[in-house]
Amino acid sequence: MNLVLLGAPGAGKGTQAKKLVDTYDIVHISTGNILRASVKAGTPLGLEAQSYMDAGELVPDSVVIGLVKERLQEEDAEKGFVLDGFPRTATQAVALTTELDELGRGIDYAIAVEVAPEVIVERLSNRQLCKACGYIGTKGDTSCPVCSGPLHQRDDDNPDTVRNRLEVYTKSTSPLIDYYHGADLLVEVNGDQDPDEVFADIQAVIAP
Ligand code: ADP
Ligand code: ZN
Repeated sequence: MNLVLLGAPGAGKGTQAKKLVDTYDIVHISTGNILRASVKAGTPLGLEAQSYMDAGELVPDSVVIGLVKERLQEEDAEKGFVLDGFPRTATQAVALTTELDELGRGIDYAIAVEVAPEVIVERLSNRQLCKACGYIGTKGDTSCPVCSGPLHQRDDDNPDTVRNRLEVYTKSTSPLIDYYHGADLLVEVNGDQDPDEVFADIQAVIAP
């Protein structure tokens, strides 16, 4: 099964991606995670990406498309994947369709996780992540409930950057909802529910 997750920053794509990976034995491809790992490792790619990410701007299409193409060609991606945070522009969406065509594969569903903007701002400013296992918690947590690792706030979850990320989402990424609707692949779910309820709504469509 090949899936794309669409939705604003903070809509809960990462949380749903985890559940999908655990349930369906597919790989999680998060461009945000790949880019953050490159920044941390100080690779040339990371150095190029960091200033865009800190400002809440998109990393150039050519860079991100190259990353995803490489990742899709790795062997484990053959069993299926969930793309999280990609595509984010029309150019990326078209490149993905073309690349999958060439590999003789295709998207089964594009799942749009929908959440109102007020909820997003509130969620991102409270979001805390586990450095060790990636658990996504809130400001109330003192250490990770899964592995007891330390929690931290992401650099780009500050109010100014959050505002810009939302603007970029509205302008560049939200039109992809229409793109996948036109391709008859779109599934819309209400993201303003308990994560297990969101997941149940997704499963009702992809594995009824
Ligand atoms: P979120 O969905 O919470 O904004 P991500 O982890 O998906 O966070 O992305 C963090 C940042 O990484 C983005 O603000 C952007 O700078 C960069 N990024 C991630 N994916 C892409 C992409 N597909 N195209 C361009 N930039 C990207
Ligand atoms: Zn943890």
